[in-house]
Amino acid sequence: MYETYRDLPPIQITTESTKGNQTGTWRTFRPVIDLDKCDRCYTCWIFCPDVSIIVEEEGDYPSIDLIHCKGCGICANDCGPGAITMEREPL
Ligand code: SF4
Ligand code: SF4
Repeated sequence: MYETYRDLPPIQITTESTKGNQTGTWRTFRPVIDLDKCDRCYTCWIFCPDVSIIVEEEGDYPSIDLIHCKGCGICANDCGPGAITMEREPL
């Protein structure tokens, strides 16, 4: 159907840093960290595709940047101790 990428229809793309994309507005579920279960392994920090897990200094507990977290749930899936649960955002 398309012979080269030049044949593709135009689409919207971002032209700035993803910091400017407030992807938190997409979210229907938000990650909530139970600090009693968190062992500070930082697996969530490594795998979050939106760089929305915040660790200020090594040894700190992680927190969530809810302006950019889009609620994909990857952090909850990858958290070994099960410290992150996805909770429905209020309508
Ligand atoms: S993956 Fe889970 S246990 Fe590890 S730092 Fe993140 S919340 Fe804590
Ligand atoms: S839900 Fe997705 S975007 Fe939000 S902190 Fe977890 S991995 Fe990152």
